Amino acid sequence: MKSKFEADKNGYYGQFGGAFIPELLYPNVKELEDNYLKIMESDSFKKEFTSLLKDYVGRPSPLYYAKRLSEKYKAHIYLKREDLNHTGAHKINNTIGQILIAKHLGKKRIIAETGAGQHGVATATVCALMNLECVVFMGEIDIKRQAPNVARMKMLGATVVPAISGSKTLKDATNEAIRDWIGNPEDTYYLIGSVVGPHPYPDMVARLQAVISEEIKAQLVEKTGKENPDTIIACVGGGSNAAGAFYHYLDENSVELIAVEAAGLGVDSGESAATSVLGDVGVLHGSKTILMQDEYGQVIEPYSISAGLDYPGIGPLHAFLNESKRAKFMNATDSEALNAAYELTKIEGIIPALESAHALAVLPKIDFKENQVVVVNLSGRGDKDLETYIKNLKK
Ligand SMILES: *Cc1c(COP(=O)(O)O)cnc(C)c1O
Repeated sequence: MKSKFEADKNGYYGQFGGAFIPELLYPNVKELEDNYLKIMESDSFKKEFTSLLKDYVGRPSPLYYAKRLSEKYKAHIYLKREDLNHTGAHKINNTIGQILIAKHLGKKRIIAETGAGQHGVATATVCALMNLECVVFMGEIDIKRQAPNVARMKMLGATVVPAISGSKTLKDATNEAIRDWIGNPEDTYYLIGSVVGPHPYPDMVARLQAVISEEIKAQLVEKTGKENPDTIIACVGGGSNAAGAFYHYLDENSVELIAVEAAGLGVDSGESAATSVLGDVGVLHGSKTILMQDEYGQVIEPYSISAGLDYPGIGPLHAFLNESKRAKFMNATDSEALNAAYELTKIEGIIPALESAHALAVLPKIDFKENQVVVVNLSGRGDKDLETYIKNLKK
């Protein structure tokens, strides 16, 4: 039986999803929609995807029993170590999968948009690996703010194109990417970095990231004798690492799913990215979802200390998980996330990405029962955030 948390044939999760795209993009999106499942289910795709995840990315990523963290919170806490992947986060699972799909479709040129540059780096990496041309659109302001990632992309052979319209940030880069795709429908593939965008992207990206929960199941059996934890916690920007960590548990109602958004300076501060609290229904990046918008439907610029969570919406699957209450949405402020990062570093010797630190930051807010088994998806490592960590370390 088909899960109600799987996209229907038009890409809907309940009322959310679909493909709200300019007429001119229809052939490109349709080509992908008609082919992605066939490709993903083919033996040649599966073989190459599995082999690259193993030998290039370094999968399976370990499931680590965090003993001192467990003692502190009086629960059994496991960390899914996506931080140990090549390039430092879960994003590479998705870009490897999509570059293989692009190759199967015969595409020669890859375009992407990036805010903080993490998805741009993951895309430039797989383009170098596959010898494909890579063009990354990035807001002019973000190019200035994220110089090290811009340098990485260039070193990997990508062309970084500044988006100079509007607020010169992510949404303007997205507009530029879409414009480019309309102009180059034959040879170009648009590689999206999270479970967002028009159908079939949210479903495709969730399936590519589902390797995370597939591994968690096998690893938990080995460690606890059972494949289900009591609780899984993951941070949500667009929602891809959470979708991957939740995927094989969506229909297991005994498993509590907790999605953590960035509250920034506080949900009521005007400087936040907690979409499930502040957003309402609208269309963002080609799908119907919930997003932060003003009374005229203009997107409100989000804010978070963590670049990867600084996004004005959530993917349609998460909008549905929130509405149906299948997942519990929580949030953590900048300072709560910083404290959680310092704590994990001190007691486990692991410096997490600021994004992942938001997932850790809800541990003190939960009343765990005895022997509760909890998996926290550690989506990335903190090397990229060192400057922020050092700057805030004063006290
Ligand atoms: C990009 C990023 C995120 C947020 O993206 P999702 O699609 O919500 O997973 C979270 N953690 C890290 C380390 C990231 O780089």
